[in-house]
Amino acid sequence: MRPPTTSVAAEATRVVGAARTMRVRSASAPPPGRSVNEDLVFRLGPMTGVLDGASVPEGFDTGCAHGTAWYVRHLAARLGLAEAVRPTATLMSNLAAAILAVRADHGGECDLDHPGTPSSTVCLLRDGGDHVDYLVLCDSPLVLDAGGRVSVVTDDRLDAGTAELRAMVAALPGDVDRVTRLRRAVDMQRARMNRTHGYWVAAADPDAAFHAVTGTLPLRGAGAVRRAVLLSDGASALVEQFGLLDWAGLLEVATAAGPGALVDRVRAAERDHPDRLRRHKAADDASVVLCEFDTGQP
Ligand SMILES: [Zn+2]
Repeated sequence: MRPPTTSVAAEATRVVGAARTMRVRSASAPPPGRSVNEDLVFRLGPMTGVLDGASVPEGFDTGCAHGTAWYVRHLAARLGLAEAVRPTATLMSNLAAAILAVRADHGGECDLDHPGTPSSTVCLLRDGGDHVDYLVLCDSPLVLDAGGRVSVVTDDRLDAGTAELRAMVAALPGDVDRVTRLRRAVDMQRARMNRTHGYWVAAADPDAAFHAVTGTLPLRGAGAVRRAVLLSDGASALVEQFGLLDWAGLLEVATAAGPGALVDRVRAAERDHPDRLRRHKAADDASVVLCEFDTGQP
């Protein structure tokens, strides 16, 4: 049903001049030859996000009949619903509600206490009109151009633990075979998930949301946010692993050539510099969301 004309006019009058425009461009793709993308990018009204589902190494059990791609899709949908119901609640609180709702989506047939239960990083940005709210959980960083300065918001608890874990696996006796080493590494990483002194990620425990790195920044005045880039670690690898760009350079490529061009650069780097990859994977899903805010000046 159409609303009365008078209220449409009133709404239009209220909005004009009141809000900045958030322009969003994005790209997300699995490596060539792989059909399933366990990353997901989305925009729902004022909120945009990158989710990066944790890959399960072949042969490992998860206790879940659905899988990582399913988990990521449901988490995104539940985040959107939480925002629709409570648009002024904190991102932490809505993420916790979404994780809890996905627990129910599993339908009771999965073992949600299993240490390998599906999980996902979360990077969110929400336009609040005169400010933005952000949330970073696990290794999907947020690059910000605010007040003429480029900075990055990261949650490095997974990385810190991974270095320690690699040292422990390296210390295993020399006659321990490759498969056993991988199994030990995965078991050790799983034992740290969503534990104090471990790392935090969206999985089956809503408390993880309250361990995210969050903040609020202005969209007006001297320190105003002009641009933001949300990344999965497949894309941030251009800076953090390949060392081919710094964060300011990454922002410039995303702005000038577009998020798709950054993903192309990831593929070229994976091809040309496989020795620089820290992970056991030769290639990874890569996602980029670029948000640009009008300055309000003519
Ligand atoms: Zn399940």
